[in-house]
Amino acid sequence: MSLHGSYDSENIFAKIIRGDAPCYKIYEDDDVLAFLDLFPQSYGHTLVLPKHVEARNLLDIEPEKLSQLITVVQRLAQVLTDELEPAGVQIAQFNGAPAGQTVFHLHFHVIPRFAGEDLAIHASKMADKAELEALQARLQQRIGAL
Ligand code: 5GP
Repeated sequence: MSLHGSYDSENIFAKIIRGDAPCYKIYEDDDVLAFLDLFPQSYGHTLVLPKHVEARNLLDIEPEKLSQLITVVQRLAQVLTDELEPAGVQIAQFNGAPAGQTVFHLHFHVIPRFAGEDLAIHASKMADKAELEALQARLQQRIGAL
């Protein structure tokens, strides 16, 4: 998939936003949805995406909507670092397949980084569902006040 093209409303994140596919949701407001990555690069790897825009990537979104999105990214980075106490936190965002994008609905990765772990860009192992459920409950409790 190139950087430019038409939005495919059957992409997995569009399905998740519509409620047609499941996710481990940790935050939602009128404009933004955040859930745990199914193939996490680290414990707490979270995806943050805009709900009501057909944006394949960063180039497709209005600045005002992008501001709403990045504000939530910052809040969740704060929550994840407070709760999980990683040594660092990576914010990543890919545009176009050659840049590493695999799902073509704009999203930001918030990836807690723990000392001694690999800085992989993509993980191939699906997370344990019980672990995701436990993490979801833990983060939802912390996020409740957002
Ligand atoms: P990208 O490479 O497009 O920046 O990132 C897409 C991310 O979506 C990857 O980290 C991948 O693990 C994650 N992902 C792919 N399919 C699903 C899914 O069905 N559910 C969730 N929660 N994450 C997914």
